[in-house]
Amino acid sequence: MKESAIHDVVIVGGGASGTALLYTLARYTSIARIALIEKYAVIGSVNSRANNNSQTLHIGDIETNYSVEKVKDVAPAASMVAHYAASLPDDIRSKILFPTHKMVLAVGAEEVMKLDERFEKIRAVFPNLRKLNRADIEEMEPLVVKGRPSHKRIVALAQMGYAVDYQRLAQSFVDQTLARTDAAGRVRIFLGSPVTDVARDADGQWKVSRANGETLRARVVVFDADAYSLLFAKRLGLGKEFSLIPVAGTFFFTKQVLKGKVYSVQEPRLPFSAIHGDPDVRVPGKTRWGPTARFFPVLEARNWKTSLDYFAVSGLHRLRTWRSFAVILLDPLRFWYLVRNVLYEIPIVAPYFFALQARKIVPTLTGADFVRARGFGGMRLQRVNTNTHELLLGEGKIIGDNIIFNMTPSPGASVCLYNAVRDMEHVLRFLGVPDAFDKVLLQKELCDPRDSLTLHDPSLETSYAS
Ligand SMILES: Cc1cc2nc3c(=O)[nH]c(=O)nc-3n(C[C@H](O)[C@H](O)[C@H](O)COP(=O)(O)OP(=O)(O)OC[C@H]3O[C@@H](n4cnc5c(N)ncnc54)[C@H](O)[C@@H]3O)c2cc1C
Repeated sequence: MKESAIHDVVIVGGGASGTALLYTLARYTSIARIALIEKYAVIGSVNSRANNNSQTLHIGDIETNYSVEKVKDVAPAASMVAHYAASLPDDIRSKILFPTHKMVLAVGAEEVMKLDERFEKIRAVFPNLRKLNRADIEEMEPLVVKGRPSHKRIVALAQMGYAVDYQRLAQSFVDQTLARTDAAGRVRIFLGSPVTDVARDADGQWKVSRANGETLRARVVVFDADAYSLLFAKRLGLGKEFSLIPVAGTFFFTKQVLKGKVYSVQEPRLPFSAIHGDPDVRVPGKTRWGPTARFFPVLEARNWKTSLDYFAVSGLHRLRTWRSFAVILLDPLRFWYLVRNVLYEIPIVAPYFFALQARKIVPTLTGADFVRARGFGGMRLQRVNTNTHELLLGEGKIIGDNIIFNMTPSPGASVCLYNAVRDMEHVLRFLGVPDAFDKVLLQKELCDPRDSLTLHDPSLETSYAS
């Protein structure tokens, strides 16, 4: 088995999270030897792939399931992506970041009241956020109003925001890193190279084994492999209390009926956003609808081979895992939500059931307008704490001895740079040089100068959940 020289940091996973960490370490620290190992030949092939997510930069303006405290955290955290992209040459940026208007629509008296209240609470965070009445909505999105009974009250909050091609964002992190004059000898990227094992060697370094039999030795390892991070953590005896509920998110297309992104008011007890309509940054002239939520025991969408890994990581042999699943999924609201989503998978009739939901946004749509978006959609592996039987929303991080495991469901892509900065701080602490990064440059390039929170400290509270 071939072994290489010791790396300071080895990152496993080349999606938005792993590549953001690579970029952050290379740009803002002087760490000497960094490696990134990605299973597939192409960067961002799994959940960060453009087809596999909703391409929204979630900043908390239209996500009604975020508490106001969370909005205050997530807005500067997600905005780092926009600040980063602003530094790129026009021809590259224009393929990554797409300005678009974003709207959240309230339908009916109860939702209208909730959205009115929410507007008052978050308008200080988003000075450009506008409250729209029916006429304003019609001007911005005519088909949201067309055919809607006039007695049905609607109101919306909207402002300009971004759609993001997270796959190209991830590729740009790699390209920008490799373009540095000091990249040669400092940064190594291994593509098409699954990591098979991680273990300590006799002198306390980590040994990261790859499928080709080669081993990389590292002082610090960061797993940015989403659900696979938990699999590797468990092999080291960490995170044993966690299981994963595997929910596939799939999509439908219609012809273009919306000009921007339109979300609806969200039930906070559901872990996923309600269906929404979005332009697809790679499919002009269409509106992409979804995602649906389908129980599916795999770790990667459309990859049956990963179902064995799902069973290995989920701990289904333990009674308390089943008890947790029962407590979580038999909550009537969640149960009916999942049952309703099963209807969206039944061949032929699925578009008709789906249209019933989508009509909340565009009332004139019928089942005949929808076609399944084949090859689109990703996996949302939602963590469960089997000790407390709780469903854990948002991302999770397990920190071991010089090793980190990140699990990054939505909106992990939006906050990839923010998470990378947090991990950079952990990595530097592990290496014994906690302050060895260029904080001034980082704040200048990734943070809004008007943002006192990020100006004081770009790392927000670790308790923040997405
Ligand atoms: C339906 C859906 C809609 C979403 N919409 C949004 C949205 O609008 N906005 C948003 O911000 N987020 C959204 N998300 C979430 C977002 O896609 C993820 O948070 C984000 O892509 C996570 O990035 P990542 O790099 O952590 O994971 P991934 O992109 O999945 O990357 C993990 C990488 O690890 C690699 N890997 C795994 N195992 C190994 C191994 N053994 N060896 C080497 N490499 C390995 C994989 O090949 C993969 O490339 C959505 C997700 C879904 C499923």
